[in-house]
Amino acid sequence: METFRLMMLGPPGAGKGTQAKRLADRLEIPHVSTGDMLREARRKGTELGEKAAEYMEAGRLVPDKVVIGIVRERLQEDDAETGFILDGFPRTRPQAEALAEMGVELDAVVNIDVSDDEVVNRLGGRLSCPNCGAVYHRDANPPAVDDVCDKCGSEGLITREDDRPEAIRERLEEYHKKTAPLIEFYEQRGVLENVNGEASPDEVADAIVEQIGA
Ligand SMILES: [Zn+2]
Repeated sequence: METFRLMMLGPPGAGKGTQAKRLADRLEIPHVSTGDMLREARRKGTELGEKAAEYMEAGRLVPDKVVIGIVRERLQEDDAETGFILDGFPRTRPQAEALAEMGVELDAVVNIDVSDDEVVNRLGGRLSCPNCGAVYHRDANPPAVDDVCDKCGSEGLITREDDRPEAIRERLEEYHKKTAPLIEFYEQRGVLENVNGEASPDEVADAIVEQIGA
């Protein structure tokens, strides 16, 4: 593969952002995260950024047209000439079609596969400090003293509303509904690479590199 025009796909908690950053460093290509770009455009006060800000402030999803405009501008920059890793875009089949219409053909779409139960286990075990916002995990990263924040010493860690199992299942349902047609779209184009995301971060990174032939 001469270029690495990649996209990372995976449910919340799959480690998508972490893997995208690692791969970007390794291949020396930009990690193009739409979440980061929207925040950046908003900070800079560009026309698109202001438009995006209106929606974000109203707590609404930024419409495809606006996101696509921001991505198009970003992919035209010099550092994206030999490749890039899209993270957070496209999220839907119409967005994928718009990207293809822009003349952007992806070399590989890396789908980090993690079962729903594992996602619930990972995100459902999260404990947050209501005082300083530090995040722990019941099994993977517990605080040194039970129920006490390592960082600020506050007592009484909580499970945030978003991290409750029912809330996670709802997000997953929404995720699957939106991404199933997207996965099908890239499968038909022969660029989908499924990677087992239930291994250690190092193993997942190695598997990605091997599967995309980097
Ligand atoms: Zn704290």
